[in-house]
Amino acid sequence: MTAAGQDPRPLVDSFGRVHRDLRISVTDRCNFRCTYCMPVEGMEWLPRSEVLTFEELERLARILVERHGIRSIRITGGEPTVRAHLPVLVAKLAALPVDLALTTNGATLRSCAADLAGAGLRRVNVSLDSLRADRFAAMTRRDELTNVLDGIDAAVEAGLAPVKVNAVVVRGVNDDEVVDLARYGRDRGVLVRFIEIMPLDGGDEWRNDQVVSQAEILERISAVFPLESMTRGHEPAERFRYLDGRGEVGVIPSVTRPFCEQCDRIRLTADGQLRSCLFSLEDHDLRDVLRSGGSDDDLSDVIEACVGEKWAGHAINQVQFVRPRRSMSQIGG
Ligand code: SAM
Repeated sequence: MTAAGQDPRPLVDSFGRVHRDLRISVTDRCNFRCTYCMPVEGMEWLPRSEVLTFEELERLARILVERHGIRSIRITGGEPTVRAHLPVLVAKLAALPVDLALTTNGATLRSCAADLAGAGLRRVNVSLDSLRADRFAAMTRRDELTNVLDGIDAAVEAGLAPVKVNAVVVRGVNDDEVVDLARYGRDRGVLVRFIEIMPLDGGDEWRNDQVVSQAEILERISAVFPLESMTRGHEPAERFRYLDGRGEVGVIPSVTRPFCEQCDRIRLTADGQLRSCLFSLEDHDLRDVLRSGGSDDDLSDVIEACVGEKWAGHAINQVQFVRPRRSMSQIGG
């Protein structure tokens, strides 16, 4: 940032959207196998040599923050907690003037939440699709519900506030738990956010009729716990307040109410590819520039080209929609 408080090269796309939020995937590997996130077979993990080092990630993050005005960074994956020495990276990123958060499946948070908080992590989002052990195991292909619930408790105890809990809703699978999950959030004091399922399983499994719309989710919750709408910001979730004052709930309506017009996010994959949209069909290769001795200016040029080419919005539900080749776990959610 300049002395006048200006970002020298703000990331403005051709639709005037200013990009302030960066998602960094630190690994494509995951200890879960969520049905909607990756295919059951055929996943090929990146060789270690292709994954960006902490030093490379720190350099890119610094350029994005200091030159391009990124203000928030979310560490994700794959499952970020399976990356060795994650608190070391957290400490490096926490030294930048950003709001630093992490998205995790929560299975190992009991053992690492305090270290992550100590390294400078501010907030955490934990995925939790079901409160029923058998269903949780079916959706994640892992019998880890008890550990995830304990991990959420550990995050609260470590002061990672607010703890947000993300639930992907799939019709006929867990949509009958919307109210139970909302109640869990109210009782536990965590902010539950329901996510409309997107075509990002890396295969051909997604069907429109699996999507439970925001309208339906809200109808079910407000029949038990009346809600009112809150103002929407840049975040993907639309927020709703419980009228009895017991907190709030969110919905990420990527399919039925896309928020592309407000999108201020860019994504860096574990192998150093910059993407301006989850559904981009093209990557911009920062790793190649990094590893061929490129300067900060060279990296900035690629970053700006990526943002400059950002499209108006994804086209889920439209005839021209093409699913990205990589799954959510490979892109970084
Ligand atoms: N492993 C971490 C986790 O479980 O939260 C971080 C990565 S995961 C890809 C990030 C988020 O993406 C999770 O909340 C997950 O539920 C969500 N997600 C994955 N596939 C999705 C899909 N097809 N539609 C909607 N959300 C999805």
